[in-house]
Amino acid sequence: MQYFSTNKRSLHADFEQAVLQGQPDDNGIYFPVSIPSFDQAVMSLPEVDIAFRVIQPFVGEAIPELPLFEICRETLSFPFPVVNLTKDIGSLELFHGPTMAFKDVGARFMSRCLQYFSQKRSGRTVVIVATSGDTGGAVASGFHGVQDVDVVILFPKGRVSRIQELQLTTHGDNVIALEVDGSFDDCQAMAKQLLADRDIKAKAYVTSANSINIARWLPQQFYYFFAVKQWEGASPIISVPSGNFGNLAAGLLAKASGLKVKRFIAACNANDVVHRFLKTGRYEVKPSVSTLSNAMDVGNPSNFVRILEIVDKANLELKDVITSCSISDDETTETMQRVDKEYGYVLDPHGAVAFKALSDHLELDPGERGFFLETAHPVKFDSVADILGRSIDLPDPVVKMTEKQKVSIGIPHETNAAKDIILHRLG
Ligand SMILES: *Cc1c(COP(=O)(O)O)cnc(C)c1O
Repeated sequence: MQYFSTNKRSLHADFEQAVLQGQPDDNGIYFPVSIPSFDQAVMSLPEVDIAFRVIQPFVGEAIPELPLFEICRETLSFPFPVVNLTKDIGSLELFHGPTMAFKDVGARFMSRCLQYFSQKRSGRTVVIVATSGDTGGAVASGFHGVQDVDVVILFPKGRVSRIQELQLTTHGDNVIALEVDGSFDDCQAMAKQLLADRDIKAKAYVTSANSINIARWLPQQFYYFFAVKQWEGASPIISVPSGNFGNLAAGLLAKASGLKVKRFIAACNANDVVHRFLKTGRYEVKPSVSTLSNAMDVGNPSNFVRILEIVDKANLELKDVITSCSISDDETTETMQRVDKEYGYVLDPHGAVAFKALSDHLELDPGERGFFLETAHPVKFDSVADILGRSIDLPDPVVKMTEKQKVSIGIPHETNAAKDIILHRLG
């Protein structure tokens, strides 16, 4: 499979180049030249086989079938259950992986692809990523212990949750956690400069692990297939709590290749650029505002252009396949409390936005059914205990983590401070 840049469309790369590069030089985003279609018979296969069949056309010759199958197997080391909360609403629980968020799937897949490429090319790779919480943890866990790859994570001091911080800082070894005295935006600006730095590039392959990278984005299709396989009755409506829109774009890609989904709901918080675009036709970028569902606090979602590409390539009408809404923090809080009381189910703030969006939608459209993506475990967010008025039991792996030693390096928000550490590391 070849990939083109959404800016300069004549700029092409194969899977390996696109993964190692992350983002094209023209600041566009990579997109496959064609959308594969699959045979419905795939749905009766075991999960790992489904994943392999879904991803193989995208990888093409870049990784032979045997190692690719092994990468799929290692990626999918945990379950993806759809839990029914009411007769019409299910929760697709994506938090059973090592860092309890859906980003584990993409991070594990990408880390193993990079390991394969590093071994083939015999060089070192440095992965640089800025995080507001979940991305860094998934990337740290996915890449920990992967040979020939170092991971540098920039996170804003004091602005990630207690458990997210543990997930970032308790690995050590090839995972370098830089605690930046600044905001997430500072971290992101630093990451961008480091990724372009010539001195670092002279010593190693340098790439990012955000959802722009196709090796993180494409495997997010897997759990849409697994969930639809579990779903009984007519094609579901799927509500996706959205920030950078990687998750929703992956679901839409699965639909475009034949997965039976009725429609998607883009469930946004107060950061509602896409919601306003669908209503008014105007795409107006705004600075992000902080909300309870902070992994969705994105002012200019980087994957939205992929949604436009899919719709265009598959001849879909955007309004037919995606409806959207914006849920306030008050509604999020109220939803978490109500779902806890009525169904005995603890939502995290992101899942709560998606639940609320879906239940509002079903009220207008009785007879429809669907599920929402519960994108992270509620224990990861410090706000949940306050909102529900009681503490949440820590799962066993989290208890073990609290006993480990925290290792991070505090730095000011200056790119050179991070650069020195990376260059020293590369020797
Ligand atoms: C990253 C994240 C999201 C947003 O996903 P996008 O693919 O950026 O739209 C939603 N919920 C949680 C818990 C996340 O970590």
